[in-house]
Amino acid sequence: QQTDPNSPIHMTTSDLAIITSDQRSRLLRRPVLRSDEMISKVKPIVDDVRIRGDAALLELTAKFDKAKLTSTIVLPPFSPESMQLETPVREAIDIAYANIRKFHQAQAEKSALVVETMPGVVCSRFARPIARVGLYVPGGTAILPSTALMLGIPAQVAGCKEIVLATPPRPDGSISPEVMYVAHLVGASALLKAGGAQAVSAMAYGTQTVPKVDKIFGPGNQWVTAAKMMVQNDTDALVSIDMPAGPSEVLVIADHTCRPAFVAADLLSQAEHGIDSQVVLIAVNLSPTELSTIEGEVDKQARALSRVDIVRQSVAKSIIVKASSIEEAIAFSNDYAPEHLILHVENAPDKVPSIDNAGSVFVGPYSPESCGDYASGTNHTLPTNGYARQFSGVNTLSFQKHITSQEITLDGLKELGPTVATLADCEGLQAHANAVRIRLHAN
Ligand code: NAD
Repeated sequence: QQTDPNSPIHMTTSDLAIITSDQRSRLLRRPVLRSDEMISKVKPIVDDVRIRGDAALLELTAKFDKAKLTSTIVLPPFSPESMQLETPVREAIDIAYANIRKFHQAQAEKSALVVETMPGVVCSRFARPIARVGLYVPGGTAILPSTALMLGIPAQVAGCKEIVLATPPRPDGSISPEVMYVAHLVGASALLKAGGAQAVSAMAYGTQTVPKVDKIFGPGNQWVTAAKMMVQNDTDALVSIDMPAGPSEVLVIADHTCRPAFVAADLLSQAEHGIDSQVVLIAVNLSPTELSTIEGEVDKQARALSRVDIVRQSVAKSIIVKASSIEEAIAFSNDYAPEHLILHVENAPDKVPSIDNAGSVFVGPYSPESCGDYASGTNHTLPTNGYARQFSGVNTLSFQKHITSQEITLDGLKELGPTVATLADCEGLQAHANAVRIRLHAN
C-alpha cells in the first residue's frame, strides 16, 4: 500500500506482448469476494429482523447508524421541509430525472409479442410489472441521490405498485433532502430509514410496519451484498435480487489520439469510489513518453483530490496493460468484462460492434463515465467482477417479468396434438398424452 504522502501515485504496468498466459489470467482476476464468511456474519442480523421485526430493526438502527427512532417507515406525501434543496441541486436532479426517465421509458415494451407457430397455434408473451420492489440506496459514507434515481425511475416506468426505498438514516434520524426529493419524484410508496443487512431483511420478510417486497435492488457495502445473497436463497422469503455486486471498476482503452489529462481524470473518477475499486488502462501502442505523461497526470490530479487517501490505495492496486493493437486491447477487455468501458481511441464508434462484454460503454473523448453515473440517461447500476459476461445492468425490464400464453384452436390441436402425445408417451407421462387425446377423440 502506498501510504507515504510523498510517494508517487502510480499503477503497475504489464505488457501483453511478453507476459505468460498465466500472468494474463491473473490480470483478469478481481480480488476474491469472501461471500461465505460475510454471509455467516450477516445471518444473525437477518434472522433477528425476520423473527423480531420492528423491535430488532429499531435496535440495529440505533447500534449501527446511531439513530434512535420510534418508527423506521415514512409514508408519502413527504413533507416539503424534508426535501428542501438549493435551486441548482434541485434543477440538476430534475434534468437527470428527465433524461433517465426518457431512456428507461423507451425500454418499456409497448405491446405483446404474438407468434403463430403452426396454423391455429398462437403463442404470445407480455410483460407485467413486479408488484412490490425494494430499492437499497447506500448511505453509510455518502449521500447517493443518483442511486435513488437509477433504481426508482425504472421501477416507476415499469409500473411497480409498491416501491419501498431503504436508506440508512443520519444520526439525527433524518434522510438527506436529496434522497427524500428523489423518493418523491419516483413515487416511492414508503421510505425505510434503515441500512445494511437489517434493511435488506426487513424488505425480504416484511415486519409489522415494513412491507414485504418481491425483488430487492441496489448496491451497498459487503453487509448489504451478503444479506441480499442470503435472502435470495431462502424460500421463505421468496424474493429475488438484481445482481451480485462488487467493487466498482473502469477499463479505459487509450491510443495515440487520447488526451492524457482526460484519461487520468476518468481513471481517478472511478478510483475515488473506494480502496477496492478496480481501475485498468489498456495502452494501445503508446510511446514511453505518452505513457509517462498519463502517469504524471494521474499523480498530479490525484494529489488535488479530497479523497487522495482512498485514491492512493486504489491506484496502487490498479494496472496498466500495454497492447500492440486495438484488436488485442479489445480482446483483453472482452475477457475482463468491465463494469464501465471507456473507448478513448481513434474512430471509437467503429469499435463498439467488437465489444462483447461490458456493463456500459463510453464512446470517444467527450463521453466521461461520470455522465452515465449521473444524468445522461443510462443506468449506473451495472454488473461488476466480470459478471458483465452474463448479466445486464439494471434496466426497465429488471422491474418486470414476462408471462407467456397460448391459444390453440381445434384445428390447431389436430395439427399439433399427435406430436405432443408422441413426446409425452416417449417420456412415459401418460396423463399428459391423455389431455391431448381426450380432446382429439371428443371431436
Ligand atoms: P451502505 O448503506 O451500503 O452501508 C451502511 C450500512 O452498513 C449501515 O447502515 C450498517 O447497517 C451497515 N454496517 C456497517 N458496518 C457494519 C458492521 N460492522 N456490522 C453490521 N453492519 C454494518 O453504505 P456504505 O458503507 O457507504 O457503502 C456503500 C457501498 O456502495 C460502497 O461499497 C460503494 O462502492 C457502493 N456503491 C456502489 C455503486 C454502484 O453502482 N456499483 C453505487 C453507489 C455505491
